[in-house]
Amino acid sequence: MQKAQLALKAHPSHKSLVQVSETVTVGGADLLIVAGPCTVESQAQMEAVASRMALAPVQALRGGVYKPRTSPYDFQGLGLEGLKILAAVRERSGLPVITEVMAISQIAEIATYADVLQVGSRNMQNFDLLKALGSVKRPILLKRGLSATLEEFVMAAEYILSAGNSNVILCERGIRSFDSYTRNVLDLGAVVALKQITHLPVIVDPSHATGKRELVADLARGAIACGADGLIVECHPQPEQSVSDARQALSLEAMVELAESLAPIAAAVGRSLPSTAGIAPRLSLV
Ligand code: PEP
Ligand code: MN
Repeated sequence: MQKAQLALKAHPSHKSLVQVSETVTVGGADLLIVAGPCTVESQAQMEAVASRMALAPVQALRGGVYKPRTSPYDFQGLGLEGLKILAAVRERSGLPVITEVMAISQIAEIATYADVLQVGSRNMQNFDLLKALGSVKRPILLKRGLSATLEEFVMAAEYILSAGNSNVILCERGIRSFDSYTRNVLDLGAVVALKQITHLPVIVDPSHATGKRELVADLARGAIACGADGLIVECHPQPEQSVSDARQALSLEAMVELAESLAPIAAAVGRSLPSTAGIAPRLSLV
């Protein structure tokens, strides 16, 4: 970390609090649990997710509208239509929304509709994109590159910070290794190390880390036990029908069960799981 400056802890106890919305923060005592589908598919899908999550200890929604797909023949996302869906469910549920930005040309539009802009693994070292995100008045969720070292990860955050945006959240989402049994290998050591090296909030994505829904909940709990500031987890009203990442999607009930199971682990490591009381859902159950 020789060249990192702004991302480093100036003082051993210093931690940055990032404001996700008026009522939701990450990096303090409260955990940030983000849930939602890999891809925004329809208004009905997102309303089903939002209405269920608004009644759970979940503080934000996720959903991609610009999707970095391995194949150009796979669904690429709803784009602007998807952003409007996210904005509508955000308005009705009171839950802030997170979505991925893949190009500089998308920044202004996404920042109009979403609360947090995600930089996906494939763009962790898209330095021009990182620099451009420095002037955005929204927090950035920066995911670790597919095979990025911690030094490369921290330096990618440094790009955003040095370009003027101090609201950066790091996300460990698994790294490539030799074993194809899991999609990636969740690097919990990196979570502990990043919390020691930087003052930035660190959240964990156990969905992309494992690629298998039956592994997600236990790793999510392990991440909180290791000191992660939160989680971002994929879930879907009909997991098997997800247009992308179906194999790792949790059902909505499994997602709620996972979120609720975190409370005692959070308490054991001096953290708390914000209740839904402060968020005041305005959606009725569908
Ligand atoms: C995603 O969050 O849907 C995604 C594509 O994640 P990653 O960039 O970690 O692969
Ligand atoms: Mn996904």
